[in-house]
Amino acid sequence: MSNSVKYIFVTGGVTSSLGKGIIAASLAKLVQARGYSVTIQKLDPYINIDPGTLNPYEHGECYVTDDGAETDLDLGHYERFLNVPTSQANNITTGRIYQSVIDKERKGDFLGKTVQVIPHITDEIKQRIQLLSNNNKYDIVITEIGGTVGDIESLPYIEAVRQMMWEYESDCLVIHLTLIPYLSAAGELKTKPTQHSVKALLELGVQPDILCCRSEHELELNLRRKIAKFCNVSMNAVIEARDASSIYDVPMLMQAEELDSVVLEKLGLSKKSTPKLKKWKSFLERLKNPKTEVDIALIGKYVELKDSYKSISEAFIHAGVSNESKVNLHWIHSDNLDKENVENQLSEMNGILVAPGFGSRGVAGKIDAVQFAREKNIPFLGICLGMQCAVIEFARNVLHLEDANTTEIANKTKAPVIDMMEAQKNISDYGGTMRLGAYSCQLKPNSNIGKAFHSDVISERHRHRYEFNNEYLKDFEAAGMISTGTNPETGLVEVVEIPKHPWFVGVQFHPEYKSTVDEPHPLFVAFVGAALKNKTK
Ligand code: GLN
Repeated sequence: MSNSVKYIFVTGGVTSSLGKGIIAASLAKLVQARGYSVTIQKLDPYINIDPGTLNPYEHGECYVTDDGAETDLDLGHYERFLNVPTSQANNITTGRIYQSVIDKERKGDFLGKTVQVIPHITDEIKQRIQLLSNNNKYDIVITEIGGTVGDIESLPYIEAVRQMMWEYESDCLVIHLTLIPYLSAAGELKTKPTQHSVKALLELGVQPDILCCRSEHELELNLRRKIAKFCNVSMNAVIEARDASSIYDVPMLMQAEELDSVVLEKLGLSKKSTPKLKKWKSFLERLKNPKTEVDIALIGKYVELKDSYKSISEAFIHAGVSNESKVNLHWIHSDNLDKENVENQLSEMNGILVAPGFGSRGVAGKIDAVQFAREKNIPFLGICLGMQCAVIEFARNVLHLEDANTTEIANKTKAPVIDMMEAQKNISDYGGTMRLGAYSCQLKPNSNIGKAFHSDVISERHRHRYEFNNEYLKDFEAAGMISTGTNPETGLVEVVEIPKHPWFVGVQFHPEYKSTVDEPHPLFVAFVGAALKNKTK
């Protein structure tokens, strides 16, 4: 059967954390730069319906799409590389697959048949992959299979790939990412784990077409020849994937290895022009040659696992490049901050960011950090819980509402300056009360945020339950903290600022999710700019 859409599957072997997401995104970037429209999808083999309820320590950041899906952080890489939004359909978990099959079974859709992993679960997986090829929106759909080949939980996915390879023949391609470890005792790179991992795939009926080999050293010709011979792939399909100093180098490294050419050839697609990567290359050029540097504190409670704030740290890389500056991020644990040590920990900082979060742990330290930034005139950006902490701090220390709090932490507080909307209070399903995805926001033109954007109505992504309590707005504004962005439909406060302060902005939404290489987020760009100004002062 021939199909106009081409499917590329990316599997992983030998070990986890090889960076399948970055390889998939880099390949996508290269074919996009040749003029193909492409999307990337991640299939996650765990039973959670989505990563929304997962602790960041388990799985890093939960990334949110415009349509309100709580997804794997790899989708953030896809968007940052491609500058094209992803959606609900781009991230599927085993939990969601089973849920949908079981729902169908309960409705009687299977007409009394025994419901089984093959064909029912595999059919559902295939359907979710094919869903992205509907409407002919994309020429190429890249599907990254989470986990490592050989895991019990990824078996149905590999089986779905095997079936699709039969059904679509030359319209499908499998790229297997493996590791070629260097044994220092032997002084050699070793191919055996790769051979075994390809064998594991073969046992499941899947012959990979291309091997991407992660390695700390160069793969010499004889080694490539050996891998090709033992793994039944052509020599030019053994791609070296060397460790890179920045993830943004990987598309260039993959281009040097001709990954995109090999892929297009094997799929029978024309190479069109050479990839148009002028913007990307100029980004890399500026990334590697900053004219200055700036120190910014990132205050959060998951700082031991940097993946928990992936989109924020990447947004700083983009914004740094826009400002021709390196951003030195100082990861500061909010649990370890208090009134006594805050000066010691933050006085050298040119800017302070207080991160999003849930629950009470670390909030006291975050509030101390806000107070320090406000009183010492250090540029401040508060995101979601960070904005809420700024509101609480202002209420306590400027409005003298000593008991001020968010009802997330203290539901009996006398001054609920951050509270849940009435309409949400009666929803019992934990996930159901969350405000998720894109909402529009009307900006005040002469504010810091208004100056950062070219337009006065913006759309930004959300992931939170609690809101600024408008009953207090008048008091706040009279005392010097004003609302500079509101939701035009509901009147909810989205942005707060202190006009007397050099640069103090709190946002209820998550600007970090929309920052890309091609379009660094204006608010991060403005914040880094303010921090630089503060540095030279
Ligand atoms: N916990 C806060 C709320 O639910 C903030 C959430 C966040 O920072 N993403 O409103």
